[in-house]
Amino acid sequence: MNLGLEGKVALVAAASRGLGRAIATELALEGALVSMCARDAASLERAQRDIEARTGRQPLAITADVSRAEDVARFVDATLAQFGRVDVLVTNAGGPPAGVFESHGADAWESAFRLTLASAVELVRRVLPGMKERKWGRIVNVTSIAVKQPVDYLILSNSLRAAVTGFARTLATEVAPFGITVNNVLPGYTRTERIDALAMARSSGEGITKQAAFADWERQIPAGRLGEPDELAALTAFLASERAAYITAQSIAVDGGWIRSLY
Ligand code: NAD
Repeated sequence: MNLGLEGKVALVAAASRGLGRAIATELALEGALVSMCARDAASLERAQRDIEARTGRQPLAITADVSRAEDVARFVDATLAQFGRVDVLVTNAGGPPAGVFESHGADAWESAFRLTLASAVELVRRVLPGMKERKWGRIVNVTSIAVKQPVDYLILSNSLRAAVTGFARTLATEVAPFGITVNNVLPGYTRTERIDALAMARSSGEGITKQAAFADWERQIPAGRLGEPDELAALTAFLASERAAYITAQSIAVDGGWIRSLY
Protein backbone atom coordinates (compact mmCIF):
# COMPACT_ATOMS: atom_id res chain seq x y z
CA MET A 1 0.00 0.00 0.00
CA ASN A 2 1.35 3.44 -0.89
CA LEU A 3 0.74 5.63 2.14
CA GLY A 4 1.50 8.81 0.21
CA LEU A 5 3.85 10.07 2.90
CA GLU A 6 6.80 10.71 0.59
CA GLY A 7 7.87 14.34 1.03
CA LYS A 8 5.30 15.13 3.73
CA VAL A 9 6.69 17.05 6.70
CA ALA A 10 6.11 15.24 9.99
CA LEU A 11 6.72 16.79 13.38
CA VAL A 12 7.10 14.17 16.11
CA ALA A 13 7.34 15.32 19.72
CA ALA A 14 9.36 13.53 22.42
CA ALA A 15 11.24 11.20 20.10
CA SER A 16 14.67 10.44 21.59
CA ARG A 17 13.54 6.94 22.60
CA GLY A 18 10.56 4.64 22.98
CA LEU A 19 7.36 5.19 21.05
CA GLY A 20 8.26 8.66 19.74
CA ARG A 21 11.51 7.42 18.23
CA ALA A 22 9.77 4.40 16.68
CA ILE A 23 7.16 6.71 15.12
CA ALA A 24 9.81 9.12 13.79
CA THR A 25 11.66 6.13 12.28
CA GLU A 26 8.55 4.67 10.66
CA LEU A 27 7.57 8.02 9.12
CA ALA A 28 11.11 8.52 7.80
CA LEU A 29 11.03 5.00 6.31
CA GLU A 30 7.84 6.03 4.49
CA GLY A 31 9.68 8.99 2.98
CA ALA A 32 8.51 11.77 5.28
CA LEU A 33 10.77 14.68 6.24
CA VAL A 34 10.86 14.32 10.00
CA SER A 35 11.41 16.93 12.68
CA MET A 36 11.66 15.68 16.25
CA CYS A 37 12.41 16.93 19.75
CA ALA A 38 13.32 15.83 23.26
CA ARG A 39 14.74 17.58 26.32
CA ASP A 40 18.16 15.95 26.40
CA ALA A 41 20.48 16.98 23.55
CA ALA A 42 22.80 13.95 23.80
CA SER A 43 20.07 11.30 23.63
CA LEU A 44 18.29 13.27 20.91
CA GLU A 45 21.48 13.29 18.81
CA ARG A 46 21.87 9.54 19.31
CA ALA A 47 18.30 9.02 18.10
CA GLN A 48 18.93 11.33 15.13
CA ARG A 49 22.00 9.29 14.12
CA ASP A 50 20.16 6.00 14.65
CA ILE A 51 17.21 7.11 12.47
CA GLU A 52 19.55 8.34 9.74
CA ALA A 53 21.42 5.01 9.79
CA ARG A 54 18.17 3.03 9.52
CA THR A 55 16.33 5.18 7.00
CA GLY A 56 18.98 7.11 5.06
CA ARG A 57 17.22 10.34 6.03
CA GLN A 58 18.48 12.66 8.73
CA PRO A 59 15.64 14.09 10.83
CA LEU A 60 15.81 17.64 12.13
CA ALA A 61 16.41 17.39 15.89
CA ILE A 62 15.54 20.27 18.21
CA THR A 63 16.13 20.25 21.96
CA ALA A 64 12.82 21.23 23.54
CA ASP A 65 10.66 20.48 26.56
CA VAL A 66 7.09 20.13 25.29
CA SER A 67 5.64 21.07 28.66
CA ARG A 68 6.97 24.62 28.07
CA ALA A 69 4.97 26.70 25.58
CA GLU A 70 8.06 28.71 24.57
CA ASP A 71 9.95 25.50 23.71
CA VAL A 72 7.04 24.24 21.63
CA ALA A 73 7.02 27.54 19.72
CA ARG A 74 10.79 27.26 19.10
CA PHE A 75 10.47 23.62 17.96
CA VAL A 76 7.70 24.42 15.49
CA ASP A 77 9.40 27.60 14.25
CA ALA A 78 12.66 25.69 13.59
CA THR A 79 10.70 23.07 11.66
CA LEU A 80 8.95 25.71 9.58
CA ALA A 81 12.28 27.45 8.92
CA GLN A 82 13.77 24.16 7.66
CA PHE A 83 10.85 22.58 5.80
CA GLY A 84 8.36 25.41 5.26
CA ARG A 85 5.32 23.59 6.63
CA VAL A 86 4.03 20.82 8.90
CA ASP A 87 1.69 18.24 7.33
CA VAL A 88 1.69 15.65 10.09
CA LEU A 89 1.76 16.37 13.81
CA VAL A 90 2.37 13.58 16.32
CA THR A 91 1.87 14.81 19.87
CA ASN A 92 3.75 12.80 22.46
CA ALA A 93 5.56 13.32 25.76
CA GLY A 94 6.91 11.30 28.63
CA GLY A 95 4.26 9.82 30.90
CA PRO A 96 3.43 11.56 34.19
CA PRO A 97 4.86 9.77 37.25
CA ALA A 98 3.17 6.63 38.55
CA GLY A 99 1.68 6.55 42.04
CA VAL A 100 -1.56 6.42 44.02
CA PHE A 101 -3.69 9.54 44.73
CA GLU A 102 -2.05 10.35 48.10
CA SER A 103 1.43 10.32 46.55
CA HIS A 104 0.79 13.35 44.30
CA GLY A 105 0.56 16.93 45.57
CA ALA A 106 -0.89 19.92 43.72
CA ASP A 107 2.43 20.54 41.95
CA ALA A 108 2.40 17.05 40.44
CA TRP A 109 -1.09 17.68 39.04
CA GLU A 110 0.03 21.00 37.58
CA SER A 111 3.11 19.36 35.95
CA ALA A 112 1.02 16.50 34.58
CA PHE A 113 -1.37 19.03 33.06
CA ARG A 114 1.52 20.82 31.33
CA LEU A 115 3.18 17.61 30.17
CA THR A 116 0.15 15.73 28.89
CA LEU A 117 -2.61 18.18 27.95
CA ALA A 118 -1.00 21.61 27.51
CA SER A 119 1.81 20.16 25.34
CA ALA A 120 -0.69 18.74 22.85
CA VAL A 121 -2.75 21.94 22.87
CA GLU A 122 0.32 24.14 22.26
CA LEU A 123 1.62 21.94 19.44
CA VAL A 124 -1.78 22.05 17.75
CA ARG A 125 -2.03 25.82 18.28
CA ARG A 126 1.24 26.29 16.36
CA VAL A 127 0.68 23.95 13.40
CA LEU A 128 -3.06 24.24 12.80
CA PRO A 129 -3.13 27.58 10.91
CA GLY A 130 -0.84 26.21 8.18
CA MET A 131 -2.79 22.94 7.89
CA LYS A 132 -6.06 24.89 7.54
CA GLU A 133 -4.55 27.15 4.91
CA ARG A 134 -3.34 24.17 2.83
CA LYS A 135 -6.54 22.18 3.53
CA TRP A 136 -4.57 19.09 4.52
CA GLY A 137 -3.33 17.81 7.85
CA ARG A 138 -2.96 14.80 10.10
CA ILE A 139 -2.85 15.08 13.86
CA VAL A 140 -2.14 11.92 15.84
CA ASN A 141 -1.96 12.03 19.64
CA VAL A 142 -0.15 9.30 21.53
CA THR A 143 -2.42 8.68 24.53
CA SER A 144 -2.93 5.33 26.29
CA ILE A 145 -5.16 2.30 26.81
CA ALA A 146 -5.97 4.16 30.03
CA VAL A 147 -8.56 6.24 28.17
CA LYS A 148 -10.72 3.12 27.79
CA GLN A 149 -9.70 1.22 30.90
CA PRO A 150 -7.79 3.16 33.59
CA VAL A 151 -4.50 1.59 34.64
CA ASP A 152 -3.71 1.05 38.34
CA TYR A 153 -1.07 3.41 39.87
CA LEU A 154 -1.45 5.89 37.00
CA ILE A 155 -4.01 8.32 38.38
CA LEU A 156 -2.31 11.36 36.79
CA SER A 157 -2.10 9.73 33.37
CA ASN A 158 -5.63 8.28 33.57
CA SER A 159 -7.05 11.73 34.34
CA LEU A 160 -5.11 13.90 31.89
CA ARG A 161 -5.37 11.53 28.92
CA ALA A 162 -9.14 11.64 29.22
CA ALA A 163 -8.79 15.41 28.81
CA VAL A 164 -6.64 14.98 25.68
CA THR A 165 -9.30 12.65 24.27
CA GLY A 166 -12.03 15.25 24.85
CA PHE A 167 -9.86 17.91 23.24
CA ALA A 168 -9.11 15.70 20.22
CA ARG A 169 -12.75 14.69 19.71
CA THR A 170 -13.89 18.31 19.73
CA LEU A 171 -11.05 19.50 17.50
CA ALA A 172 -11.73 16.70 15.00
CA THR A 173 -15.22 18.09 14.39
CA GLU A 174 -13.96 21.64 14.04
CA VAL A 175 -11.19 20.88 11.53
CA ALA A 176 -12.74 18.08 9.43
CA PRO A 177 -14.03 20.59 6.81
CA PHE A 178 -10.38 21.59 6.22
CA GLY A 179 -9.19 18.10 5.29
CA ILE A 180 -7.56 17.65 8.69
CA THR A 181 -8.00 14.47 10.71
CA VAL A 182 -7.40 14.10 14.45
CA ASN A 183 -6.94 10.65 15.94
CA ASN A 184 -5.43 9.07 19.03
CA VAL A 185 -3.24 5.99 19.18
CA LEU A 186 -3.46 4.05 22.44
CA PRO A 187 -0.36 2.07 23.35
CA GLY A 188 -0.94 -0.95 25.51
CA TYR A 189 1.90 -2.36 27.61
CA THR A 190 4.81 -1.76 25.25
CA ARG A 191 8.53 -2.47 25.71
CA THR A 192 10.06 0.94 26.46
CA GLU A 193 11.77 2.57 29.44
CA ARG A 194 8.38 3.87 30.56
CA ILE A 195 7.11 0.35 31.18
CA ASP A 196 10.16 -0.34 33.36
CA ALA A 197 9.18 2.62 35.56
CA LEU A 198 5.65 1.28 35.85
CA ALA A 199 6.98 -2.18 36.78
CA MET A 200 9.03 -0.49 39.55
CA ALA A 201 5.91 1.29 40.83
CA ARG A 202 4.03 -2.01 40.99
CA SER A 203 7.02 -3.67 42.58
CA SER A 204 7.10 -1.21 45.49
CA GLY A 205 3.31 -0.81 45.67
CA GLU A 206 2.53 -4.54 45.77
CA GLY A 207 5.76 -5.96 47.19
CA ILE A 208 6.36 -8.10 44.10
CA THR A 209 9.41 -8.36 41.87
CA LYS A 210 9.62 -6.48 38.58
CA GLN A 211 9.65 -9.84 36.80
CA ALA A 212 6.39 -10.77 38.55
CA ALA A 213 4.85 -7.49 37.36
CA PHE A 214 5.81 -8.26 33.75
CA ALA A 215 4.52 -11.83 34.06
CA ASP A 216 1.21 -10.53 35.41
CA TRP A 217 0.80 -8.14 32.46
CA GLU A 218 1.56 -10.95 30.04
CA ARG A 219 -1.21 -12.98 31.68
CA GLN A 220 -3.66 -10.06 31.27
CA ILE A 221 -2.83 -9.56 27.58
CA PRO A 222 -4.67 -12.02 25.31
CA ALA A 223 -1.77 -11.95 22.83
CA GLY A 224 0.43 -13.21 25.71
CA ARG A 225 3.22 -10.65 25.27
CA LEU A 226 4.03 -6.96 25.54
CA GLY A 227 3.88 -4.80 22.44
CA GLU A 228 6.86 -3.52 20.47
CA PRO A 229 7.22 0.23 19.74
CA ASP A 230 7.19 -0.29 15.97
CA GLU A 231 3.75 -1.93 16.25
CA LEU A 232 2.29 1.36 17.50
CA ALA A 233 4.38 3.25 14.95
CA ALA A 234 2.83 1.30 12.07
CA LEU A 235 -0.68 2.39 13.05
CA THR A 236 0.49 5.97 13.51
CA ALA A 237 2.01 6.04 10.03
CA PHE A 238 -1.25 4.73 8.56
CA LEU A 239 -3.33 7.36 10.36
CA ALA A 240 -0.88 10.00 9.12
CA SER A 241 -1.26 8.81 5.56
CA GLU A 242 -3.21 9.94 2.55
CA ARG A 243 -5.12 6.65 2.73
CA ALA A 244 -6.58 7.45 6.17
CA ALA A 245 -8.34 10.63 4.98
CA TYR A 246 -11.80 9.45 6.12
CA ILE A 247 -10.72 8.20 9.56
CA THR A 248 -11.04 10.91 12.18
CA ALA A 249 -11.95 11.36 15.86
CA GLN A 250 -10.93 7.79 16.67
CA SER A 251 -9.01 6.29 19.58
CA ILE A 252 -7.37 3.08 18.41
CA ALA A 253 -5.51 0.74 20.74
CA VAL A 254 -2.45 -1.34 19.92
CA ASP A 255 -2.65 -3.53 22.99
CA GLY A 256 -2.77 -7.22 22.07
CA GLY A 257 -6.42 -7.27 23.20
CA TRP A 258 -5.85 -5.94 26.77
CA ILE A 259 -8.83 -3.53 26.80
CA ARG A 260 -11.96 -5.52 27.62
CA SER A 261 -14.57 -2.93 26.53
CA LEU A 262 -16.59 -3.17 23.30
CA TYR A 263 -15.45 0.22 21.94
P1 NAD B 1 9.60 6.72 27.30
O1 NAD B 1 9.72 7.24 28.70
O2 NAD B 1 10.32 5.48 26.92
O3 NAD B 1 10.04 7.86 26.25
C1 NAD B 1 9.53 9.16 26.40
C2 NAD B 1 10.21 10.09 25.42
O4 NAD B 1 9.71 11.39 25.66
C3 NAD B 1 11.71 10.19 25.56
O5 NAD B 1 12.26 10.41 24.30
C4 NAD B 1 11.88 11.43 26.43
O6 NAD B 1 13.13 12.03 26.27
C5 NAD B 1 10.79 12.30 25.88
N1 NAD B 1 10.26 13.29 26.80
C6 NAD B 1 9.80 13.08 28.05
N2 NAD B 1 9.34 14.23 28.56
C7 NAD B 1 9.51 15.19 27.62
C8 NAD B 1 9.25 16.57 27.57
N3 NAD B 1 8.71 17.21 28.60
N4 NAD B 1 9.56 17.25 26.45
C9 NAD B 1 10.13 16.62 25.39
N5 NAD B 1 10.40 15.30 25.38
C10 NAD B 1 10.10 14.60 26.50
O7 NAD B 1 8.03 6.58 27.08
P2 NAD B 1 7.25 5.75 25.96
O8 NAD B 1 7.01 4.38 26.46
O9 NAD B 1 7.86 5.97 24.66
O10 NAD B 1 5.83 6.46 26.03
C11 NAD B 1 5.45 7.58 25.27
C12 NAD B 1 4.09 8.01 25.79
O11 NAD B 1 3.17 6.93 25.67
C13 NAD B 1 4.14 8.38 27.27
O12 NAD B 1 3.28 9.47 27.50
C14 NAD B 1 3.62 7.13 27.94
O13 NAD B 1 3.04 7.39 29.20
C15 NAD B 1 2.59 6.65 26.92
N6 NAD B 1 2.29 5.24 27.09
C16 NAD B 1 3.29 4.33 27.07
C17 NAD B 1 2.96 2.97 27.27
C18 NAD B 1 4.03 1.91 27.28
O14 NAD B 1 3.71 0.76 27.63
N7 NAD B 1 5.25 2.18 26.90
C19 NAD B 1 1.63 2.59 27.46
C20 NAD B 1 0.64 3.57 27.45
C21 NAD B 1 0.98 4.90 27.26
